[in-house]
Parts: sequence; C-alpha cells; structure tokens
Amino acid sequence: MGKGSSGDTKSQPQNKPDIMEKLVSLCKRRGFIFPSSQIYGGINGLWDFGPLGTELKRNVRDDWWLVNVRWRDDVVGMDTSIITHPRVWQASGHLDGFHDSLVDCKSCKQRFRVDQLEAKVCPACGGELTEPRKFHLMFRTQLGAVAEDTVEVYLRPETCQSLFLNFKEIQSVARMKVPFGIAQVGKSFRNEVTPRNFIFRSREFEQMEIEFFCHPDEEGKWFDDWLAKRHQWFLDIGIKPEHMTRKPHDKKELAHYAKKAVDLQYEFPFGWQEVEGIHNRGNFDLSQHTNFSGKDLSYFDEATGQKFIPSCIESSVGLDRTVLAVLCDAYDEEPERVVLRFSPLIAPVKVGVFPLVKKDNLPEVARKIELALRKKFVTVYDESGSIGRRYRRQDEVGTPFGVTVDYQTLEDETVTLRERDSMEQRRLKIDELPGVIETACTRQP
Ligand code: ATP
Repeated sequence: MGKGSSGDTKSQPQNKPDIMEKLVSLCKRRGFIFPSSQIYGGINGLWDFGPLGTELKRNVRDDWWLVNVRWRDDVVGMDTSIITHPRVWQASGHLDGFHDSLVDCKSCKQRFRVDQLEAKVCPACGGELTEPRKFHLMFRTQLGAVAEDTVEVYLRPETCQSLFLNFKEIQSVARMKVPFGIAQVGKSFRNEVTPRNFIFRSREFEQMEIEFFCHPDEEGKWFDDWLAKRHQWFLDIGIKPEHMTRKPHDKKELAHYAKKAVDLQYEFPFGWQEVEGIHNRGNFDLSQHTNFSGKDLSYFDEATGQKFIPSCIESSVGLDRTVLAVLCDAYDEEPERVVLRFSPLIAPVKVGVFPLVKKDNLPEVARKIELALRKKFVTVYDESGSIGRRYRRQDEVGTPFGVTVDYQTLEDETVTLRERDSMEQRRLKIDELPGVIETACTRQP
C-alpha cells in the first residue's frame, strides 16, 4: 500500500507515445492481452489475457517462484484466501487510510487525483476544481446469503496481509527459524480512480510478494540483500540494465508502515514508474495484528533464549506491471519486421516448426518433430504461407527459435534452426534440438 508515493503523470515521459499504441494493438491482434468483456464494449481497468499473454505471464510468475521460493531454503510459499476477516483491514490501516483524494473539474467534468496535480486548476481545460473528496480504493462485498445476516467484507487490495496473519502458523508447520520468508502470488483488487496505461494500473491485478522476517538488528542487512536480488531478477528475465533504476523514498513519501523504502522503477514509454517496492516494514504488521487479534505473534529464539517481534522486509512486485515492462522492453521495429525480443526464458512460445513446402512428406516429418518437442516446450506448427512470412509471424510474438524441415531432412535427419534475433540459420541433427532449446530457455542456477 504505497498510496501517494507515485503518480503516473509526474515522471518524465519519453517521446515515444506511439510505441504504446503499437504495443497495445499488437497485444490485441496476436492474442496477448485485450479488454475484458469486449463484446459488451469493454470495462475500464479490467483486462483478459489470451493464449500468448497467459503463457508469458505464467513464465514470469514461474521464474519468480523458482528463484524466490523453490531455490531458497529460507522462503516458503502460500496461497491464501482473497477475502479475509474484515478486522484484518482495520489492523493494517487500509480501512482508515486506503483512499485517494479526488477533485472534479467544474467545467469539463473530468476527475483527477490531487497527488497528481501540478496546479490548482484543471490540467485539461484550466477550469475551476471542486474541493477534494475521498475515494475508497477497496472493493466491498457481502458475505452470507441471508440479508439480515450478511457481513461486509473486502476483496484484498494486496496479497501480503495474510502472510503476516500466518507468520506463527507457517513458522511452526514448516519448522522455519527466523530469518525466513513467506511468499505468495495472487490477485489483488483496487478500485483505482484513474486506471490507465494499458495494464500498468488496473483494477484487478496479480502481485508477487515476499515477507521476510528477521531479527531487528539484521533488518538493514536483509533490506540491502533483497533489494540487490530483486533488482538483478529483472535483468535476468531480460530487461535492459539501463531501463531499471532504484528510487529511494524520502521521509515524507514513506507509507505509514514503512521505516525505509526503495522503488524499483522501469523506464516505460510513458516515463519512469514503479514496478516493485522494497520496504522495511519493521514490526508494524505483526504488532498491529497482535493488538487487534489478541494473539501473540512474537518469536522465541531457542538458540539465544530471546523473545522478540521480528522485523519484516517486504518485496512487492506487480506481475501484470512486470509483463508490461517485459513487453515494452522486448518491442523492436526493423525495416522488414517487428520483433519481440523476449528472453528465451520467458518467451511464450519457444519454437516454431515449419515444413519448407506443403508436400512430399515434409509436413508429416515436421509435425512429428513438433509433437516430440511439444512434450517439453511450448511449440507452434505452421505450414501456411511462404517460409519468410511464417518466420515473421513468430518474430512478432517473440518465438526464439524456428525449425525448418526441407528435402535434405528426408536424407540425413538434419533441419535448419533459425535464431530470432540474429536470423542466423544453422543445420543440426533432429535429436540435437531438445538440448539446444533447453539450454537457451531454462534458467541455469
Ligand atoms: P502506485 O503508487 O503505482 O499506485 P503503490 O505504491 O500503491 O503503486 P504498492 O501498494 O506498493 O503500489 O504495490 C506493489 C506493486 O503492486 C506495485 O509496484 C505495482 O507493481 C503493483 N500494483 C499496485 N497497484 C497496481 C494496479 N492498480 N495495477 C497493476 N499493478 C499494481
């Protein structure tokens, strides 16, 4: 919950507005991402991921999970309910503090967030603005079927609160010792006033969060450690180093729960914006939930005999926002083609298989190769149109490899392997394909 920490209109936009338009149109045309409920005209701030977008998102999510949970012995995962006891949001401060202040223009009727305004007049028409009004960002709903028995509950606006609630439980059932972390990936909901910039700010989105509990004396060390590791992850999934930066919050920007915070920002075509926040939350959350629930959430260290409330370092990254960063970073135009230069690690399709021509048994051989590769990788088989067009079709969705079956294949069981970025082609044996693709598309420890 970093309300007010960053406004979309405050950063320095690059002079590349058309890139966003082209990307949005490519995403729609090729089935990555499109507006939700399209046949009813769409609905603001809500998006559907199509076949390629789903694979891309899954790959980003899986890589995050692999590196931050599976490969670490001090982090475990959870998958908690979206609706929680409503008291959780009192304890967390969301019920009192999670809102935007809004003003309306009396002339053109447009609505703006106060923290994003640079002057006291309407940025669109210069008209007079109303007094600010509070707009609550949590979605409310009712629990219970019988009208007089219902309880007002909320769709979670962040995934992390349940990780605090379960600190004691997980520590005991997973036999963890502080320092250790709990991670979760899941949907969050915010009734954003100004959803904008494609999937950058939406009303339903996925977050990937880690709460890492440590001794208060070690919070500085763990903060630095997580910041470095999380920054590196963006480079590992293919983001160019010059497009990522760290932005520390100064004292007045800090959220009420935070002792220290650094945003990891990406240079989107519409400017530098937060993709992830690293926070030192101190013992705010465990203390709050102890006070509100009456359950002791402190930790007893058997080695030292010390009892204390752990400090917590949080890494909170938007999955959809990361997917947008990945798409922006991958987008490239050449005179002859549009290419999405995804890292092979996260590319939605790893390999396209093509018969050079649609006759003489080449389609059958190509299909057989594709079916074998499909057991391990996401593949595409395509026999329609010229081979050049088929390569371009895959370049546009970022498929790193193309395999072409030609007449020589029938003689010596070799194929050509085309690499997306260099467009270089080389010949190799069919049975060498899985090894080459696997090496390029799998994360090495
Ligand atoms: P902002 O200032 O942009 O509203 P925030 O500071 O409120 O973001 P946090 O509460 O720290 O964001 O959430 C952590 C991460 O969750 C953000 O870095 C972002 O990647 C993602 N996120 C937050 N709100 C949205 C949203 N409305 N749509 C998509 N992703 C979001």
